[in-house]
Amino acid sequence: MTSEGPPARKVALSVGAREDTSGSRPRVLVLGGGFAGIGAAQKLKKSDVDVVLVDGHDYHTFQPLLYQVATGLLEEPAVGHPIRDLFDKQDNVRVHQDRVTGIDLDAREVRFAELAPERYDYLVLALGAEVNFFGVEGAAEHSFPLYTLPDAVRLKNHVLERWEAADRDPKLVEEGALNMVVVGGGPTGVETAGAMAELYNGVFRKDYPDVGPEQARIVLVESSPEVFSMFKEDIRVYTREALEKRGVELMTGDVVESVAPERVTLKSGTVLSAHTLVWGAGLQGNELVRSLGLELQRGNRLAVDEELRLAQHPEVYAVGDIAAITDAKTEQVLPQLGSVALQSGEHAGETIGRRVAGKETKPFRYRDKGTMATIGRGAAVVQMLGGRTMKGKAAQAAWGTVHLALLPTNEDRAKAVVDWAGAGFTHERSGRIRVET
Ligand SMILES: Cc1cc2nc3c(=O)[nH]c(=O)nc-3n(C[C@H](O)[C@H](O)[C@H](O)COP(=O)(O)OP(=O)(O)OC[C@H]3O[C@@H](n4cnc5c(N)ncnc54)[C@H](O)[C@@H]3O)c2cc1C
Repeated sequence: MTSEGPPARKVALSVGAREDTSGSRPRVLVLGGGFAGIGAAQKLKKSDVDVVLVDGHDYHTFQPLLYQVATGLLEEPAVGHPIRDLFDKQDNVRVHQDRVTGIDLDAREVRFAELAPERYDYLVLALGAEVNFFGVEGAAEHSFPLYTLPDAVRLKNHVLERWEAADRDPKLVEEGALNMVVVGGGPTGVETAGAMAELYNGVFRKDYPDVGPEQARIVLVESSPEVFSMFKEDIRVYTREALEKRGVELMTGDVVESVAPERVTLKSGTVLSAHTLVWGAGLQGNELVRSLGLELQRGNRLAVDEELRLAQHPEVYAVGDIAAITDAKTEQVLPQLGSVALQSGEHAGETIGRRVAGKETKPFRYRDKGTMATIGRGAAVVQMLGGRTMKGKAAQAAWGTVHLALLPTNEDRAKAVVDWAGAGFTHERSGRIRVET
């Protein structure tokens, strides 16, 4: 157990910094409105603090279902929830939409694109991760990552546009207009490849009777010998079979060397004609962490102590994907998962509340919900930290339970149950429209 009272001083305002309207209460600045930032701010509801939460978007993104937006199964509001709505009953929170541009840990001040600089007594860094293209030629310019809601909409629009174009001009099919290469055999790549295969073989078969999915290839490229290398053998075998059953071609042990708008070249020399390359190959910590002058862990993540604080700045908490959080039980760094983000964010919020109240604080303990992924309808996998595995419909039910708990409100949970049940039952993809703006 550790204990440390509230900061000795209330921060002084620098010239141009935002006025502290409370007069006396500690100010907690939460950067990021993902699972981690929302969890932290909500846990401060009853604390005697002023909370300011800033996110570049005015909505909270439910990333696990982005692939369902990209494949037309869900519409945008099903995975994006207004952040302000999450705090309309929490008087001590103010929400701003703005981009964080700089963090000065020594001055305890954060700069934004438009807001005046904000000073803080406590800072919660919950800015998540960003896509890592590993310097692959053409990847940043021509590929389709799947990390944000705009990414999902962009991918959906592109796929719909290519099918419409091929329907008008069948020559495009031979040129690879309908082919898709998905890079990365982790959860993002596998889920996307499986969902796209179901989209192609399901509604597109009906929508485009003159084109036909048998003319389109979906190829999953993974550098390791197998997809889902982080999972146990039985899950890896199951996943390979489930993908192949859906018509996904697996190219393992190969890497993408370069990407052009209509072509993907692999290191082995294989050239794939494809007008769509989905990049699910890797993440790195948010670019802002590189400007902090701190030593970073693998994947540019911030090292934290057992209470999720930065060693040299105990008033700063790093939570969720931006942090390398070591699990106390296994001594392994926890994966970048929604449950880890939510629990770590909530722990930071609770700890700050206890500290402000002069109470003892506790180290973070992760409650394992399992690592899980969906490959397609009725095909999911789950692996618990202890190694126990589940596959198929039972795993899909577990996936649903865990992910419902991650949704921000009861209203969202009720809506998700209806959406998921409806989509599973009818296989309808009413989101497969392209809205030009
Ligand atoms: C496609 C995909 C599928 C996934 N599937 C699953 C799954 O099935 N199960 C699971 O448990 N996990 C899954 N994950 C992982 C999970 O979604 C993440 O671990 C989790 O969202 C991390 O939460 P976070 O709060 O740390 O970061 P995020 O959710 O990324 O939130 C960070 C927030 O910071 C904001 N931000 C970033 N930079 C700035 C800036 N400069 N200025 C202002 N705001 C900024 C962003 O707008 C964002 O709202 C998936 C992730 C992806 C990408």
